[in-house]
Amino acid sequence: MKKQQIEYPLGSRPNDGEVLEIAEGILWVRMPIPFKGLDFINLYLLEDEAGWTMVDSGFNSEKIKELWTEVFEKHLKGKPVTRLICTHFHPDHMGLAGWVTEKWNIPLTMTFGEWTFGRMLCLEAADEVPEEVMSFYHRIGFTPKMLEKVRKRGFGSFSKAVYPMPVGFDRIEDGDVLSIGGSDWEVIVGRGHCPEHACLYSAERNMLISGDQILPRITPHIGVYPAEPLANPLKKFLDSIPVLAKLPADILVLPAHNDVFTGIHNQLDYYKEHHEERLSRLKFACGSPKTAMDLLPVLFDRELNENDVSLCISEGLAHCHYLVETGELERQLGDDGVWRFQHVKVIESAVA
Ligand SMILES: [Zn+2]
Repeated sequence: MKKQQIEYPLGSRPNDGEVLEIAEGILWVRMPIPFKGLDFINLYLLEDEAGWTMVDSGFNSEKIKELWTEVFEKHLKGKPVTRLICTHFHPDHMGLAGWVTEKWNIPLTMTFGEWTFGRMLCLEAADEVPEEVMSFYHRIGFTPKMLEKVRKRGFGSFSKAVYPMPVGFDRIEDGDVLSIGGSDWEVIVGRGHCPEHACLYSAERNMLISGDQILPRITPHIGVYPAEPLANPLKKFLDSIPVLAKLPADILVLPAHNDVFTGIHNQLDYYKEHHEERLSRLKFACGSPKTAMDLLPVLFDRELNENDVSLCISEGLAHCHYLVETGELERQLGDDGVWRFQHVKVIESAVA
C-alpha cells in the first residue's frame, strides 16, 4: 500500500500577527520568534459560546504583546478569552501565559509536568551557574571556551524569556475531555520533547492540535539537560508514537511550527526511521570510546554554528542514553570528568 504523503491542504499561512480561519470557530494565529532557528510559532483560538480558548501564548516580548492586542481587538467578535491552554513549558509556547491570564483574569490550563517544570525554571534563576550544572557541561565534552560562555550567561535565561507565571494552574491530564465550541477535545499526552506535552484531539472535527509533539518538515528536538542528566527522552518520544498513530490517517494536524498538514502516519513513520538511522550511526561510531561532543559530526550532516552545538549535543546525548538503556552502549566517567560512550563488550563465558 502506498504511504499517505504529507500535504498542506490550506495552501496558505497567516503572516506574523495575522489570523487565518481554518474552519468555523478555529483560528490559526502566527507570531514571530525572536531568535534564530525557528522563525515563527502557530497559536490557535477556538471559539466557545461565552468566549475563546487560546492554545499557547507565544514568546514574551513587547512586539508580540502588541500583535496579540490587535488580534484580540479585531478577531474575537467582541468576546473575551476565557481559557488559556499551554501545550508545554517552552518559552515560545508559555512565554506570555502570565500576561494573557492576567489580562483576561483566567486560569492557565496545563498538565502538571509542564506547569511545574516551567514554574521551577522561573524560580531557580540565579546569577551564578551552580557547579552541578557546570560539571554536567564538562561531562558532555564542552571545551573550556564553551564552559566559560555557560558561566558568563548566568543561570536563569528561561525566566527572562517568560512573563511571570501565575502561582496556580488548572490541571489537565491524559484522557481528559474538554468541551469547546460544542465539540469534544481530548487531551493526549505525548513525551520526549518535554515531560508531559498536551495535544488536543477532536474526533468530531477530525483535528489534532499537536504543539511540538508532531511537526511537519522537521523532527521535534529531544535533548538531555542538567535538570535530568541521566534522562532517556528518546525512549519516551518513540513510545508516544504508537499512541498518536492510532489517530485517523486523514486527520488535519495543527502544529506549533510550519504549516497545517495531513499525513500524520507518514510523519510518525519518518520520526521512527530518522531516529533508528541515527541510533545505528551511533552504534557504528562507538566501537571506540566517544564523548557526546565527538559524536556531533556522526549525528549531524550539516555544519553547526555555536548556537546549534548546545542543542545538538543535548540531542546526541539523548541518543546515547537510549542505547545505554537498551544495554548496547556503556557510559563511563573518565578520570578527566568526561563521559565516554562505547559498545558494551560481550564477555564470552569460558566453556569448560
Ligand atoms: Zn517546544
